[in-house]
Amino acid sequence: MTRRDQPNQRSEQPVDHPRADRRLPETIPDQDFAGRVELALAAGNHLFNPRNSARYVAQVLQGVTAVATKVERTTAPFTGITPSEIQARVAAVDLDTPLPDTATALQELEDVYLRDAVYFHSPKYAAHLNCPVVIPALVGEAVLSAVNSSLDTWDQSAGATMIERRLVDWTAERLQLGDAADGVFTSGGSQSNLQALLIARNHAVAALRQDPARNGLRLPALLDSLRIFSSADSHFSVQKSASMLGLGFDAVITVPCTADHRMDPAALATAMAEAHDGGLIPMAVVGTAGTTDFGAVDPLAELAALSRAHGAWFHVDAAYGGGLMLSGRYRHLLDGISLADSVTVDFHKTFFQPVSSSALLVRESAMLRHITYYADYLNPESAALADIPNQVDKSIQTTRRFDALKLWLTLRIMGADAIGALFDEAIDLAGRVGALLDSDDDFELAAPPQLSTLVFRYRPRTEGGARLSEDGADALNPAIRAAVFASGEAVVAGTRVGGRHYLKFTLLNAEATLGDIAGIINLLRRTGAGLLRNGAVRNGAGA
Ligand SMILES: *Cc1c(COP(=O)(O)O)cnc(C)c1O
Repeated sequence: MTRRDQPNQRSEQPVDHPRADRRLPETIPDQDFAGRVELALAAGNHLFNPRNSARYVAQVLQGVTAVATKVERTTAPFTGITPSEIQARVAAVDLDTPLPDTATALQELEDVYLRDAVYFHSPKYAAHLNCPVVIPALVGEAVLSAVNSSLDTWDQSAGATMIERRLVDWTAERLQLGDAADGVFTSGGSQSNLQALLIARNHAVAALRQDPARNGLRLPALLDSLRIFSSADSHFSVQKSASMLGLGFDAVITVPCTADHRMDPAALATAMAEAHDGGLIPMAVVGTAGTTDFGAVDPLAELAALSRAHGAWFHVDAAYGGGLMLSGRYRHLLDGISLADSVTVDFHKTFFQPVSSSALLVRESAMLRHITYYADYLNPESAALADIPNQVDKSIQTTRRFDALKLWLTLRIMGADAIGALFDEAIDLAGRVGALLDSDDDFELAAPPQLSTLVFRYRPRTEGGARLSEDGADALNPAIRAAVFASGEAVVAGTRVGGRHYLKFTLLNAEATLGDIAGIINLLRRTGAGLLRNGAVRNGAGA
């Protein structure tokens, strides 16, 4: 390390500058004045500016190198560390006493984080919708956090606003939402869904206010009769949003699915007619393009037609399935999405972007006015009238990361087709794993894979040839999952189907092979058989 990137050690130590007495002295003693100058000068060495550019490069490189070395040497997705073990290590750090330099801090970070992190690039990570990330996006991440543009106003972002707008247009075009489409980047699918339903709510309320009988009513009085329809398999952020929007969890009417876990349009028609007859207002229908568990894509065109017939907003949650828009082989699964009033897309899932990166798209740009508020100190209405592009007018956030840059560099360096190919690989792998599980007598597949997830359980035959009982399987499968997680050798997810516990793979790693996943399946089998043998789980036979 050069002298230049070695921060002034002495002045970083508060020991040299007793500050225990926090009362403001009436006069500043001279030696204290000198100490404060020294501290300020040393602190200045940490600021990102032209004087420190070499220090910036050297230190970021140290951080990046630590991660690269870690990834090279990591063979398992996890170490199996327990919350209490890692909590004790984190608690032992004295946050009021800085370390002498970046290298030492990174060594410490190895102990409190890096060694025991969960690594999504590992082919043995097959749990949630976390993706391995692409390098062009990591370049974007480094650039965007250093420049630190904030996307709320033009005067804090300039070209960043134009790049975000261009990517919103590009995404809307891929979804064929039409010429009037618009949107904004968000922190994730939950926030995108919340914003979509906020717009839908305000749109419905604006219509209610047209009725003279309701004139003068405050907002809460207008929300009572609004209802949202989504399938039994839709994401829980729909219910959370309803609650946050003042409608209540129970404003979401759960529509049953057909056997393939897609919303049943006949059931939706019935539910909407019933609501209408009961004097309720169908505010929105939420279709899912890629459910979190089964990857099911609701029959979007049919849902769109029913929404239209009832004057309801049609939102499509494509947080997971959004990546299909770039697919060479499976784009058709999104047919009908072009009829949506709004769409959620999570780039940090099937576009292989680091967290966070998501967007909400709307078919009618004008609908974004439902969430626009002006503040004199930030985005006065005069700015909007003068066509100054302040993205905060379209967002429920204020200060906001330039996440769009990651997708921009990904498209410029890798290209859209290459991203689509990564998702296609994961979908194809899921198909092969589905066939493997289907032909394996120790396992039961809950449904054939539709995108890149598999829901299944270990339910071997006992000596008499009958299957392990439902209750036995119910106790065993969560225990298998926990034991495998504790081993760190693989990470799989769990879910419930019809009240019963299942295991789940979410495959997003194009480099994972059938052999890798077969290895996990055998680990699950060995673990399950071991638990049964040890009597850790009761070995009841028969359904
Ligand atoms: C992941 C997911 C969400 C939530 O997205 P976050 O980015 O985690 O907030 C919403 N809907 C579906 C279908 C999802 O799979």
